[in-house]
Amino acid sequence: MTKPKLRNDCFALPQGVDWTPVDEALDHLRDSLTTVVGTEKLLLSDAGRRILAEDVIAQRANPPAANSAVDGYGFDGSMLDGDMTLPLVDGRAAAGVPYEGVVPKGSALRILTGAVLPDGVDTVVLEEDCLITAEQVAFAAGLKPGANARRAGEDLAVGELALKAGQTLRPQDLALGTAVGTRSVTVYRTLRIGVLSTGDELAEPAADVAADKTFDANRPMLLDLCRRWHCAAVDLGQAPDDRAALKAILDEAAQHCDVVLTSGGASAGDEDHVSAVLKEAGALSHWRIALKPGRPLALGVWQGMPIFGLPGNPVAAFVCSLVFAYPAIRQLSGADWQAPQGFLLPASFEKRKKQGRREYLRARLTGEGSVEVFRSEGSGRISGLSWSDGLVELPDGAADIRNGDLVRYIPYASFGL
Ligand code: AMP
Ligand code: MG
Repeated sequence: MTKPKLRNDCFALPQGVDWTPVDEALDHLRDSLTTVVGTEKLLLSDAGRRILAEDVIAQRANPPAANSAVDGYGFDGSMLDGDMTLPLVDGRAAAGVPYEGVVPKGSALRILTGAVLPDGVDTVVLEEDCLITAEQVAFAAGLKPGANARRAGEDLAVGELALKAGQTLRPQDLALGTAVGTRSVTVYRTLRIGVLSTGDELAEPAADVAADKTFDANRPMLLDLCRRWHCAAVDLGQAPDDRAALKAILDEAAQHCDVVLTSGGASAGDEDHVSAVLKEAGALSHWRIALKPGRPLALGVWQGMPIFGLPGNPVAAFVCSLVFAYPAIRQLSGADWQAPQGFLLPASFEKRKKQGRREYLRARLTGEGSVEVFRSEGSGRISGLSWSDGLVELPDGAADIRNGDLVRYIPYASFGL
């Protein structure tokens, strides 16, 4: 399959809005981004973490035949009536070793878990509930016809939908697909995401680095985010604050990446070169989103390849990646759109906020099932990111949170981490 291209204006938000609410920006991503990767066929057993491109329909019923749910004695349940004593027929039925004969009405057969019910058996009594001798089995009243038996196809019938296009295959999905007879599946090709840091101040950690240099914290963070999102992470290194150099890197990236995440240089200032080169190419959508921590984002399409220009500040880059890049990348990868799952939990903190922008606080669960936030909201505090296990999302409107009030906690797992 050839690679679909995005429209140049796919990130353009409605004009005339000063600060776009988070939900509007997300709706826009959902409605304007399409899958940009082709498909490939894989053995189902190799397809864990991949995104299904086609529905999986049950080729075989699960279970394929009626079978016993327990170890016990099988018989025809239509003659159940009070306490029962049934003569045993010779032989037994076990998983993979069926009983080939017919069990006469009024008799019982030794049957083990998973064994196909032989003709004449539709009910099984649990062995623990029986008094057993060599010739017969006795048990008390109370068993219902059909007890302890699984019907053929009671889980899924042939032709039913087992797995849906757009879902990411998890271990349990591989189990279900295999149970209904799937050998291979069509999945989307893994999205390749280039990660580029920008800024003349950046350096790699080393001794004797001058204090005016900043260690490039964003690149390892963003590369690992991409890997955790089951994408192929492509390290594009660092770009200086120089337009020609940046353009050359993006040109090269467009040859072998599906998406690029940059950090730094995304505002509208003199040294904001990501914005500048996208603008020059006529492909810049400057996103000013009403959120904290957030700075302007520079979104654009470079030779058909979407670029997410994230802020340089690591805290803002991380939060913007989770809130915007994660759903966008899922959509570009072929996955279903999914709002992050949050949980209402009592606050172990107090906080007052004004109307106007949504706030994400670095947070984690306490041992008591409430949620606490990092002691400082300072956007330079990378230690707060490392301390946290999730975000508390405070609504766009004003809020006055008191201890014990319910707040929305979104664990990082809800952002694919
Ligand atoms: P910028 O968005 O380029 O204006 O950068 C905002 C702040 O984030 C500045 O203090 C930068 O030095 C810092 N910054 C930019 N890129 C990185 C990075 N890759 N790692 C750590 N800090 C960064
Ligand atoms: Mg910069």
